[in-house]
Amino acid sequence: VQRVCLQLTDSPGARDLAWEFLRQGALVPVCVSATGLGREEVEELLAGGAERVALPLDAATPGLYQLVKGGPGWERTRELLAELARAFPGRAGTHLVVGLGETEEELLRATASLLEDGVTVALFAFTPIPGTPMAGHPRPTLASYRRIQAGHFLLRRGAVTVSDLRFEAGRLASVGLTRDSFRQLLAGGEAFRTSGCPGCNRPYYNERPGQAMYNYPRPLSPAEAEAEVSAVVDDSTPGPREAGVWRLLETGAGDAAWNMAVDEALARVHARGDGPPTLRLYTWDPPAVSVGYAQALEGEVDLEACRRAGVHWVRRPTGGRAILHEHELTYSLVIRQSRLPGPVPATYGQLARGLAGAMRQLGLEPTLAAPPARAARHSAACFDEPSAHELLVAGKKVLGSAQVRREGVILQHGSWLLQFSPGRLASFLPGVDPGRVAVKAAGVSELLGRPVGAEEAARAFREGFARGLGITLEPGVLTGEELRVARELLPGYAHPALGRPGRGTG
Ligand code: SF4
Repeated sequence: VQRVCLQLTDSPGARDLAWEFLRQGALVPVCVSATGLGREEVEELLAGGAERVALPLDAATPGLYQLVKGGPGWERTRELLAELARAFPGRAGTHLVVGLGETEEELLRATASLLEDGVTVALFAFTPIPGTPMAGHPRPTLASYRRIQAGHFLLRRGAVTVSDLRFEAGRLASVGLTRDSFRQLLAGGEAFRTSGCPGCNRPYYNERPGQAMYNYPRPLSPAEAEAEVSAVVDDSTPGPREAGVWRLLETGAGDAAWNMAVDEALARVHARGDGPPTLRLYTWDPPAVSVGYAQALEGEVDLEACRRAGVHWVRRPTGGRAILHEHELTYSLVIRQSRLPGPVPATYGQLARGLAGAMRQLGLEPTLAAPPARAARHSAACFDEPSAHELLVAGKKVLGSAQVRREGVILQHGSWLLQFSPGRLASFLPGVDPGRVAVKAAGVSELLGRPVGAEEAARAFREGFARGLGITLEPGVLTGEELRVARELLPGYAHPALGRPGRGTG
């Protein structure tokens, strides 16, 4: 225990209890947070054993304060905070809640001015509480919260001043640093930890069990730090990288050759134009085994068993290893490399935020797989081993992804297992040990203990992916040009070569 925080409510006796607690003395620093304290009372608390006192402004502007808290107290609290910070340096703090209706600009300007006055600022993410007047108010997007955390961190460190920040329509568009220095300053991920008094790790009114952590209450793992830093640097650096509106295609079930021809067509047409990134969701009918672009077939896929079972096979344009597409939802994503810079693992890490959002939407709690400590075992099956930055649920892989980069465009594929049958997978991939893969992978239905179909999974994917990345998905259809290119590519996928052409990553 590094700190005790007494958050005083209006309940009768709350203040007496706080005083009693302070009188008893504590072996760790104690802070007191309460609305409506006067200068005299704060001074008494500080003299009586409180190490710090927080007067929560909560709202970034007086107007929002009036609206949300129902009183004109913002200016008075703001003045008192400045006075206290002058009189008791390092001992006055406040809370600001992100997502009450303010813009990122209003929030960061308020933060900068408080920091300038010497007031410690603790950031909260608005959390709707059932039964309260704001129960229906949405939470801030994670992307927006991360931008504010990064801005707060840089201001707190004195790495930038408020005049360095550039806003577009209220959104933080640039922190006035080069990508490299921005990345270096954020390295390690401290910016995304709980802010405020030293050692504070409050979860209250901020986090929901099983959902994205707005404030990390502990040090970030290297993989988490890399993913968070990459996403926020990409998102707050000027240029064509702003999140925004992406196209959503839901093309339903298709056979293996058509599915792959469409994905390659999307990437090719995207490379020639300037359209938005595209997310496509689809399923496979009949079921099929797909192998990675560079994967050998001989000895790895039993084509005869596939033929007998009516299972198609196809070579993907992306890398990675073999997948049985049966009870699953597949996504493909086409995006310019300039919008998602960095090597393959870094881009996996950035997109993992969207994929994690999709899983959370279904009630799963994903974690990022750490880079393997040893050279990965060469199995034919994708689900036999997670790659770095892939997501695990209860230690098992439920979603496998693979990429290819061509003409400045990234095509990323992923297969989200809805039901997993290790025996069936092994019947088409003779090198797979069903016992081993049963420990390594699982389907969403098994993990949730109820059947989850493609329609439910697609709904969760759309909503959670957009939320996780802070983007809007706008439903669209395949263009005439994309259909034409897909038809042109179709014969190459319908009669794929058996060899090992050798490109793609996964
Ligand atoms: S920052 Fe944390 S420890 Fe400090 S007053 Fe706020 S909740 Fe309490």
